[in-house]
Amino acid sequence: MVHFTEMPYERVTYEEIEVRYLELMEEFRKATDAESCLAVMRKRYQLTADMTAMDLCYVRHDMNVNDAFYAAEQAYYDEIGPKLGDLSNQFERLILASPYRKDIEEKLGSYVFSIMEAGQSGFDSRLIPLAQEENRLLARYNQLTSNATVEWEGEKRKRNLMRLIAQSPDREVRKAASLAISDSWEAQREELEEIFEKLLENRRRQAEVMGFSSYVELSYYRMMRIGYGPKEVEAFRELVKKHFVPLSRRLEEERKKRLNLDHLYIYDSGVYFPEGNPVPVCVEAGGKDADTEKKAVPGSTAACLEATRRMYTEMSPETGQFIAFLLDNGLADVEIRDGKRDGGYMTTFEKYRAPFIFANFDGTMENAYIMCHEGGHAFQGYLKRDEEIREHCWNTSEMAETHAMAMEFFAMPYMELFFGDRAQDYRTMHLEDAIRLIINQCLQDEFQQRVYEQPEMTMEDCNALWARLDREYFPDKDYDSNVNLREGRGWQHIPHIYHWPFYAIDYALAEIEALGYYRWMHEDPGASWQSYLRLCKESGTMDFPSLVKGAGLGSPFEEETLRKLSEWMLGKLSK
Ligand SMILES: [Zn+2]
Repeated sequence: MVHFTEMPYERVTYEEIEVRYLELMEEFRKATDAESCLAVMRKRYQLTADMTAMDLCYVRHDMNVNDAFYAAEQAYYDEIGPKLGDLSNQFERLILASPYRKDIEEKLGSYVFSIMEAGQSGFDSRLIPLAQEENRLLARYNQLTSNATVEWEGEKRKRNLMRLIAQSPDREVRKAASLAISDSWEAQREELEEIFEKLLENRRRQAEVMGFSSYVELSYYRMMRIGYGPKEVEAFRELVKKHFVPLSRRLEEERKKRLNLDHLYIYDSGVYFPEGNPVPVCVEAGGKDADTEKKAVPGSTAACLEATRRMYTEMSPETGQFIAFLLDNGLADVEIRDGKRDGGYMTTFEKYRAPFIFANFDGTMENAYIMCHEGGHAFQGYLKRDEEIREHCWNTSEMAETHAMAMEFFAMPYMELFFGDRAQDYRTMHLEDAIRLIINQCLQDEFQQRVYEQPEMTMEDCNALWARLDREYFPDKDYDSNVNLREGRGWQHIPHIYHWPFYAIDYALAEIEALGYYRWMHEDPGASWQSYLRLCKESGTMDFPSLVKGAGLGSPFEEETLRKLSEWMLGKLSK
């Protein structure tokens, strides 16, 4: 296995991929039985693996958006990406129309075919120019937000380094920090709104070209939602309003008492304990007597990675092998640096069948959380390393997020490794957070649905809509003097709203399943873990509702599931 830093980079050109795809298509057309069709499909695996440089570029560009070489390479891929997507679609169209389809389906399962069909409905060559324009808008958004700074104590700080200060146990400090962060968003407001307006218009035209009444409809194909649709999602949001909003309000009352405050303002929202939130205190093994001071810094990047290694090693033999593979091959970039893109994600380098974690350790509990969440994605990818049918590695996002979010809970018993004697506080905080997350993702989903249904909305209308929905989902939120948030511009802080429309609800659906696992863990840790392992391996062969049912979890679309979960959490969290 090649170390990440040694992975060679060479540009993948559109011309070479086009030639190879056309050859494959020719060969597929000439195939005289299912076996030879499958042989061509396996050649496509090699072609996909040979495009790994594109993923390498994506990551290396995100590691420093100001690096001119990878910025230029990324701009090239943003341009050819939609054309490559079209080639892939053309190839899949042949598979779907093959006279040997029945026999191929027997080998691969019918689910793969449903996914390919959704792909045909969601994209075709007429969309290429619009998709290219969309990519350019998103590149502008990345450049803008990756270099954002906040004025703090007379100096400019990277915006994503402000979280620790915004969670300060000192109320005056966190109030000032939260205002400074909002000022920084407010300073970018004009450009953020301009980019979003153009994205809206672009996506409205995409829907029109594809013959859909709105982008909402198109997005359900894009997101490959199979086994449920907008109606089920809308009903799910109503269930969340009925069962989770009251639960969250009740827990907020308890948090207020715990913090010893008369009233909670927006700047109190990230704080859970009067002494402050737990932060990683781990020190690297051997760090105390090591001569390098860096190692002994509690919660340092190196120490958190060491704790991550210990956690997965203790969890199970499978996770132990996974974390050794990941960390020994440099497949995680977790340090915050100037010019590095915000946030975290996991991606795969198909050529090496290697998962990669991109993250930003900011010294808060995020250091641990992100290695559980992205670690869950990466672990699932690792489990599928030897999967022969590569189509079974295609994940839809609600399923992928279930892998990731369930891991956050399977990791709960190991939090002492990061937080020492405040591990229990982390567990409480994370569980309360999960409830707010579900509500917040439903809010985003409803916002997007309404915006994309009426694309003629102005930015002012969008802000007013956000403010109104925000009050519905979080009736007790008090923005105090924070004008940016009070006037409904909070949605502008959320990268998913720009980059991945309609992804939000996937987090909410996945969190329900993840909490289902957490509840199950309390009854039977062995059985719940075995179910999780099986789910990770079966992912890609069935739609989401069938997978969770097969795993022994409740459906997120049934009221019973949400009612039982909210009751269980209330019992667990209230004293
Ligand atoms: Zn995720």
